[in-house]
Amino acid sequence: MKPAPFDYVAPTSVEEACKVLAEAGGGATVLAGGQTLMPLLNLRMSQPFVLVDINKIPELSGISRSENGIRIGAATRQCDALSNALLAAELPVLVEALRHVGHHQTRNRGTVGGSITLGEPAAEQPACAVALGASIEIASVRGRRSVAATEFYVGPFMTVLEPDELVTGITFPHWPSGHITLFRELAQRPGDFALVGMVGALALEGGSITRAGLGWFGMGGTPIRARAAEAALLGQALDSVNADAIAELALSECAPFDDHHASAEYRRTVGRRLFAKALREALTVREAA
Ligand SMILES: Cc1cc2nc3c(=O)[nH]c(=O)nc-3n(C[C@H](O)[C@H](O)[C@H](O)COP(=O)(O)OP(=O)(O)OC[C@H]3O[C@@H](n4cnc5c(N)ncnc54)[C@H](O)[C@@H]3O)c2cc1C
Repeated sequence: MKPAPFDYVAPTSVEEACKVLAEAGGGATVLAGGQTLMPLLNLRMSQPFVLVDINKIPELSGISRSENGIRIGAATRQCDALSNALLAAELPVLVEALRHVGHHQTRNRGTVGGSITLGEPAAEQPACAVALGASIEIASVRGRRSVAATEFYVGPFMTVLEPDELVTGITFPHWPSGHITLFRELAQRPGDFALVGMVGALALEGGSITRAGLGWFGMGGTPIRARAAEAALLGQALDSVNADAIAELALSECAPFDDHHASAEYRRTVGRRLFAKALREALTVREAA
């Protein structure tokens, strides 16, 4: 299997990359870690005229902290994010989620931005972005814009990104130190995409929940934010939370589908239990601490 012929460019700045994307008029494709794109090229399911390799653009790599939150450059390797001390200290749920993304080999090349941009509905990182309230930074020759992760995904593998736009980074808002994290997924084998998964964070003040970010993956055509479940948790004391009722509310916000891995009904059944168990266990551990 060989890809169709294409030109290859490796710009060293965002501006240069955006110029190539604009001039290609929709015929260019961005190459990040290549873990999804290379097979698509080899199978000729993707046939760009120009491949824009973003791996030599310094602005796109690295993880930094600012007043607005924690920014992950789009071309940051998943393995680097996984071992990053700032993320481990401030966004531990993202690190936990990254452990479930593919394998050592895929994480060594795969990028955080590649996963976010691809928009696989069963992927862990897009769900983290949606649940935790992240925003996606986008650049083009027309300028820069920022889109809330909840607005970024419009369908399976579909986002609001225009063909001439480049994702430059993802910014996660700060969550207070000591917040509760939730992560649970069911996959057929380690490293597989999840059949069903949930992710979230809860902030506390005086023993009550003051902020909640909860989301699903593998439970619909996009990552899903469980807003009704979040609203129901606000103001509740840890020992008064009914995890089953919250899971039921969260489930009402999903639209799981049948595919050759599992039926929608199976996903609902597992999702309900998995969500309730993750919530119950996280609250019990915190109460005991
Ligand atoms: C065996 C295997 C198992 C995997 N398991 C999992 C899993 O369990 N969970 C999971 O979440 N993922 C999984 N993946 C996916 C993988 O981890 C990568 O996240 C994914 O392939 C995309 O990242 P990438 O950097 O390789 O992007 P690429 O393959 O380079 O690009 C993917 C797509 O995004 C576009 N793109 C990439 N970056 C940008 C950007 N900055 N701006 C605009 N467009 C961009 C590309 O043009 C392309 O269309 C698996 C992959 C493999 C091969």
